[in-house]
Amino acid sequence: MNPKAPECPSCKRAVLPRAENPCFPFCSGRCKAIDLGRWLGGEYRIASAPDEDEDGNTPPEVPPTDA
Ligand SMILES: [Zn+2]
Repeated sequence: MNPKAPECPSCKRAVLPRAENPCFPFCSGRCKAIDLGRWLGGEYRIASAPDEDEDGNTPPEVPPTDA
């Protein structure tokens, strides 16, 4: 296993390094929202804050896509 190729907690795909990926440790903002939605949806109990030191309060809804 390559320690420099972390997996997205949501979809298990390869994740870009933090330096290149504002959504780290997720592969994308969508996966980040999915995981956060699980947290806020009660699938997990929020006993202690997850290991996030930056904007970890994104709402679970997918942002509106005005195409
Ligand atoms: Zn993902």
